[in-house]
Amino acid sequence: MRYDTVIIGAGMSGLSAGVRLAYYEKRVCILEKHTTIGGLNSFYRLRNRNYDVGLHAVTNYAKPGTKQGPLSKLLRQLRMTWEDFDLRPQLRSSIVFPGCILQFTNDFSFFCDQVTSTFPHQADGFSRLLKRIEDHDPLNLERESFSAREVVGEYIKEPLLVDMLFCPLMFYGSATPRDMDFSQFVIMFRSIFHEGFGRPFDGIRLILKKLVRHFKSLGGDLKLRAGVQQIRQRDGRATSVLLEDGTEIEADNVLSSAGAAETMRMLDPSAPVEAPTAGDISFVESISVLDCEPAQLGHHETIVFYSNTEQFHYERPGVPVDLRSGIICSPNNFDYSRPLEDGRMRITALADPQYWLSLPEDRYVAEKNEWNQRIISSAVAHIPDFRAHVIDTDVFTPRTIRRFTGHVNGCVYGAPQKFVNGQTPISNLYLCGTDQGFLGIVGAMLSGITIANRYLLK
Ligand SMILES: Cc1cc2nc3c(=O)[nH]c(=O)nc-3n(C[C@H](O)[C@H](O)[C@H](O)COP(=O)(O)OP(=O)(O)OC[C@H]3O[C@@H](n4cnc5c(N)ncnc54)[C@H](O)[C@@H]3O)c2cc1C
Repeated sequence: MRYDTVIIGAGMSGLSAGVRLAYYEKRVCILEKHTTIGGLNSFYRLRNRNYDVGLHAVTNYAKPGTKQGPLSKLLRQLRMTWEDFDLRPQLRSSIVFPGCILQFTNDFSFFCDQVTSTFPHQADGFSRLLKRIEDHDPLNLERESFSAREVVGEYIKEPLLVDMLFCPLMFYGSATPRDMDFSQFVIMFRSIFHEGFGRPFDGIRLILKKLVRHFKSLGGDLKLRAGVQQIRQRDGRATSVLLEDGTEIEADNVLSSAGAAETMRMLDPSAPVEAPTAGDISFVESISVLDCEPAQLGHHETIVFYSNTEQFHYERPGVPVDLRSGIICSPNNFDYSRPLEDGRMRITALADPQYWLSLPEDRYVAEKNEWNQRIISSAVAHIPDFRAHVIDTDVFTPRTIRRFTGHVNGCVYGAPQKFVNGQTPISNLYLCGTDQGFLGIVGAMLSGITIANRYLLK
C-alpha cells in the first residue's frame, strides 16, 4: 500500500501528527523501531511495578475547560478531552541554590511574589523582563535565534537570580549548554512558571494509549518493531522507506521524529545531505520505590531543582554524572484524590554520554549502582533522607536512552541547532518533535500537530 505520509517514530510528536493526519482521512502509517510506543516518554513494567520513562510532570498545566493556552489548543487539535489527559496539578515546587530558595506553584503570581520578595532590588527589572516575555512570539517558525542570557542580563543584574531562573528551564528544555535560544527560554518560562505542572494519576501510559486508540479508530496504521533502515530518495524527493526487515513502503511524504542527525543518517547515500551535529546533553535518572509516601517523611514538594553551586553548570560534564545539580521529582506530590500505589522519588542529573556509552558491559551494572548511591547522597542534602525506605530501584543512563530511542549520544533534547520550520534538504521529508524545536511532552505533541498542519494537510 502507498501512503500519503509515513511517520518515523511513535513518540509524542509522531503519534500526535498521526492523529491529525488520520482525522483528515490521510492514509498514514506510523513506523516504530521499538516494541512499544512512547519513545523518550514511554512506560514499562519491572518486578510487578509500573514505571514511567520520561514523565516527571506535564508542563503547561491548565484547569479543565480553559479556552486559551497550549494545552487547550492541543486538545482541540487532537479532538481529545480534558478527561483523556486527567491532569492533576502539582502541590508546590522549588528552586534551591546555596542560601536561597524560590518556590512556585501553578499560580504565577505566587512565583512573582517569591522573586520580588527574595530579590527586591531586581523587582523592577523582573517586571520589565515579564513584559518582554509577554511581547515575544516564540512560535514564529521563521524566527531568528539569539541568546537568552544576553536578553535576561539586560533586565536582571543579580547573577544568582539569573541562574535560578535558567535552572528549571534548561533542565526541562535546553539542547544547548550554558545558554538557550531566547524563543526557547520564553516557551519554557511560560510552560513552567506561568502555567505549571500536572500529572495524570496513572502516568503517561494513559495519554499514550488514548492517542493510539484514537489514531487507529481514525483508520491510521501503526507498526511496531518496524525500524526504518533507509529513506530512499530520487532528485531531492523521498520516494519510500526501507525497513530493517527489508520491506519497502512507498509514501508521498515522510515525517520523521527520530531526530535531525538520526534522520539524515537514514537517507540513502545518493542524497547530497550532510548529517547535522548531534547533541550531547543527557541524564542519568535514579528511581527509588519507597515503602511509604514521601509526605510521610516530611517531603511535600512536587519537584525540587537544585544547584549546590551559586553558578549553575548546564553542560555535558567531564565526569560520569554531575553531582553539583539535579532534579528531584516526587510523582506522589500532585493533588490526587487518593494515594498512588507506592512512594516514588526520581532524581535526575546531567551525565556524560561518552562515558556511559563506552563502558564495557561487565562494568555497566556496577557503575550504575555506584552512581545511583552517589546521586541519592547528593540529593538528600535538599530533602528528607529516604534511603531507609527504599524497597526497589531502577536506574537509567544515556545508554538506556540510546538503546530504546535510537538518539545519538542518548541525548534527550536533540541537536543544538533546531530545524524550526521542520524542513530538510529533501523537499518532502519533514522533521517533527525534539529537533523541530518544541520540547517536552506538550511541546513534542504541538510540534507534530504544527508540522502536519503546515505541510501535510494542504
Ligand atoms: C528522563 C526524562 C525525563 C523527562 N521528563 C519530562 C517531563 O517531566 N516533562 C516533559 O514535558 N518532558 C519530559 N521529557 C522530555 C520528553 O519526554 C520528550 O521531549 C518527548 O517525549 C519527545 O518526543 P518526540 O516525539 O519528539 O521524540 P521521541 O520520544 O524520541 O520519539 C522518537 C521515536 O522514534 C523512534 N525511532 C527512532 N529511530 C527510528 C527508526 N529508524 N525507525 C523507526 N522508529 C524510530 C524512537 O524509537 C522513538 O519512539 C523527559 C525525557 C526524559 C528522557
